[in-house]
Amino acid sequence: MEYSCQTYELKCNECGRRFGNRPLSGCPDCLAPLEIAYDLDIIRKEGKFTRANIAAGPFNIWRYAALLPIPEGFQPDIPVGFTPLVRARGLGKRIGADNLYVKNDAVCFPTLSFKDRVVSVALANAQKFGFTTVGCSSTGNLANSVAAQAARLGLKATILIPADLEPAKILNTLVYGARLVRIDGNYDHVNRLCTLIADEYDYGFVNVNLRPYYAEGSKTQGYEIAEQLGWKLPDNVVCPMAGGSLIRKIRKAFNELIALGLVEDKPVRFFGAQATGCSPISQSVRNGWDYIEPQRPNTIARSLAIGNPADGPAASKMIRSTGGWAEDVSDVELVAGIQELAETEGIFTETAGGVTTAVTARLYAQGRISGDETTVVCITGNGLKTTDALAHHYDHIDVRAIRPRLVDFVDYIAALDCQDVDAFPEPALVG
Ligand SMILES: *Cc1c(COP(=O)(O)O)cnc(C)c1O
Ligand SMILES: [Zn+2]
Repeated sequence: MEYSCQTYELKCNECGRRFGNRPLSGCPDCLAPLEIAYDLDIIRKEGKFTRANIAAGPFNIWRYAALLPIPEGFQPDIPVGFTPLVRARGLGKRIGADNLYVKNDAVCFPTLSFKDRVVSVALANAQKFGFTTVGCSSTGNLANSVAAQAARLGLKATILIPADLEPAKILNTLVYGARLVRIDGNYDHVNRLCTLIADEYDYGFVNVNLRPYYAEGSKTQGYEIAEQLGWKLPDNVVCPMAGGSLIRKIRKAFNELIALGLVEDKPVRFFGAQATGCSPISQSVRNGWDYIEPQRPNTIARSLAIGNPADGPAASKMIRSTGGWAEDVSDVELVAGIQELAETEGIFTETAGGVTTAVTARLYAQGRISGDETTVVCITGNGLKTTDALAHHYDHIDVRAIRPRLVDFVDYIAALDCQDVDAFPEPALVG
């Protein structure tokens, strides 16, 4: 189970040892996570990753294939990504941000979260390695995406999740015919079990033995942001963190674009967002630690509930090295964040997006980001998957049915008009 490629291979960031291409996530010598290293000289010489080449590509992540670990001869089948980057004037006005953008992966194809990006790259490699069964340990969105894309590619899927996941995320896995295994425990228990299973069974776990390939898929969000800003980098990125992978890979994407001359070099600050009930990375950033103190998750932001994040230490160091920061918000604040983004931008995000929105508001309120800077907020998942987070939040609103008569409508609207405005409280994001 191995293949070779001229332009990329697995490399240990700690000791520099190289491993070719195989299903392996950690260095056997120093136990550090492996990364994909590219030969940028070859890519530069072959001229495959240029603005013109990218512009001629399809409107999905495969337009960036030259800088993804994609085996030779791979024919992309699923048009993942290329989600909207929208100017967020309404939200910006509320929080004092003049140049705010939302990268909207709530509408990512095919399963409405940014995990579609990582899964497609991982499965391309799973097929090349000859796996016929793929899987993952998941906090929800990954399960949905592995199940859907495996179905499309004709692979079998075995997916492990913590037992208490949101019902919509369970249904959105089962519908694709995947085998779902609920584990009595949290994500960290599930992930450890997957490591043991990968040693015993011939499974390609996208975020375990295929993790270095998987993680590279996140770079496409960074490429898209730069291209959609007209091949410019923003001043700041605010990004949710679970394992700590996405935020690092957006940075890696920006650095590659600089190295290959597609964008002008400039400092970009990275800001991480977590829920207080599971905040090991933001805790590490705020305390200036080089390490992570694992936590036992307790938050409704289940997609971010990883207590012992694999890329946590590296994410913490990276954030501080850019002059950025990290914050965490309570479950009450994240629900207000969901409502605020919906009411100001018409975007319904899941709990993770509520976290990111609320953290963004706080960063402006604290003066860590100033109003005139260009900031991109990464909204990574869809609110339709976590509607239970809003259960009872609209119980006070009168939605009784009326007869199909004009007089009934007139009465009803008049009643709404004179209702106390306090019946419709503004979500309190800041303060
Ligand atoms: C997985 C996930 C994240 C965090 O990704 P990491 O790369 O593990 O930090 C953020 N948002 C959503 C919606 C997710 O599902
Ligand atoms: Zn090593």
